[in-house]
Amino acid sequence: MPIEFTTKRTNVNDRRIINGKDADVVQLHPMKHTFAWDAYNMGNTNHWLPTEIGMQKDVEQWRSNSVLTEDERHAFQVVLGFFTTADSLAANNIVLATYRHITSPEVRMYLLRQAYEEAIHTHAYQYIVESLGLDGGSIFNMYREIESIYNKASFILSFNEGIFDPNFKTGDFESDQKFLENLCVFSLIMEGIFFYSAFAVIFGFQRQGKMVGSAEQIQYIMRDESNHLNFGADLIETIKEEQPELWTPEFQDRITNLIKEAVDLEYTFATTCFPRGIMGISQDGFRQYIEYIADRRLQRVGLPIVYGTENPFPWMSEAVDIAKEKNFFETRVIEYQTGGALEW
Ligand code: FE
Repeated sequence: MPIEFTTKRTNVNDRRIINGKDADVVQLHPMKHTFAWDAYNMGNTNHWLPTEIGMQKDVEQWRSNSVLTEDERHAFQVVLGFFTTADSLAANNIVLATYRHITSPEVRMYLLRQAYEEAIHTHAYQYIVESLGLDGGSIFNMYREIESIYNKASFILSFNEGIFDPNFKTGDFESDQKFLENLCVFSLIMEGIFFYSAFAVIFGFQRQGKMVGSAEQIQYIMRDESNHLNFGADLIETIKEEQPELWTPEFQDRITNLIKEAVDLEYTFATTCFPRGIMGISQDGFRQYIEYIADRRLQRVGLPIVYGTENPFPWMSEAVDIAKEKNFFETRVIEYQTGGALEW
């Protein structure tokens, strides 16, 4: 779009997450959505790279015949199989679907940072695969070969239909709701539910002193993911304030039902991939944990909880609430942000 030669200034009150009036998306100021600027700065403070983390102990344990059971080897690879493509799906959604419809420059700034973080996560999985000498072709193709991973990916991708269409535009009730639905699915479900059984398995390894380098990688990823989730929820909350007409009772029901569907998909993933349980986590444990985090996601955007399940793995909160328990990590002490920044 050509720019107009004018002394007329941008009015901060015209700024919107989507459908900003005369939105000039290249003027960072005047800034309205300061939560996005805060998230951008937080992302920079949390910057890390996979190659900074030592993998030697993991390599020794993986090569040894006496450290990991066959079930554990299988579980470790299946979890990686989910992870390896999940962050690329998230990155595609940011770059190809979300970014171009956002009319807030500060939100766009954060999305650029977030997209880079998704690339770092994919790099981390690649680095684990390479360090351990795993078969990359097999691990990166698991989202096509393992039905329960395929079903999660297909569920997520179905919400890109329409939004990826080059002719898709926000600006009417139906398309704005479709865009908001995409944000809810990617933030609350993809970043907020679909990673969490896999996170639990990896921290199960860590609790037994196994694959601690990989677990440290995943810990950094979980910290980033909780910030992505928080940012996504802030985005949803702000669109609700700016366009309250979108958040109808029918729409709220639809989001709640999608979250319930995601809980079933996640439970099927955990129980078909780890039919005998894994790292002391039983099928019931997975079910309770997935329900517990689903309730937290619903609450975060002001929806009533569905399950009322207690957290069966309080140690998972410790893995996020890192400031409280630095020695939880066997590898090295990390300068973490304040626990408050990591709350759901
Ligand atoms: Fe993410």
